[in-house]
Amino acid sequence: MTFTPPLKDCNFCQRLCAFRAENRQKYQTYHNAPVPSFGDLTAEILIVGLAPGLHGANQTGRPFTNDYAGNILYPALKEHGFAKGNYQKRKDDGFELINVRITNAVRCVPPQNKPLPAEEKNCRAFLSSEITAMPNLKVILCLGAISHKNVLQALNLKQSAAKFTNGAVHRLKEPPYIIIDSYHTSRYNINTGVLSYQMFSETIKKLQGLLK
Ligand code: SF4
Repeated sequence: MTFTPPLKDCNFCQRLCAFRAENRQKYQTYHNAPVPSFGDLTAEILIVGLAPGLHGANQTGRPFTNDYAGNILYPALKEHGFAKGNYQKRKDDGFELINVRITNAVRCVPPQNKPLPAEEKNCRAFLSSEITAMPNLKVILCLGAISHKNVLQALNLKQSAAKFTNGAVHRLKEPPYIIIDSYHTSRYNINTGVLSYQMFSETIKKLQGLLK
């Protein structure tokens, strides 16, 4: 099955379109469009975040790139062999993912980093079709409870199928994916001690074992 990403002027979410138009005026060098996923569709692992940050992925056009959360995510992936190159917070830094694809539950930047439930719902169609278009997909790493909720909904599963818990591994029967949860690598979670680099690194380390 092929995956068709949203158009650069996707207008399914009125509030996000208005914010995008405002940002196109204010920040003319920014990407200011739905942020395309990073990594190959043939990967066995899909990492799902929440939404692009205004001056992060919305600026650079690559998920988590120049977002604070990327400062935790990308080094941890490299540490455990899921990336190579030097992450330099730019789309053209040559950094490469290995057997991993990264996307967001909501592909356009929301005001205050907070998408509305209706916007999550609108964008979920892309998440569902992207999951379906990954022929080798085995493991989905959800960064944060909102990502977890959207992944279950994208898979047509009830929330009771898997409860979000940091570090939890959920082996689904149908579809037969493994979901693994982590708190989001956001600045807030790191600064408040909810998540540390070491805790997140432990979760990424588990991915190797889950692919066997
Ligand atoms: S968030 Fe998703 S559905 Fe909404 S406008 Fe952006 S790409 Fe389209």
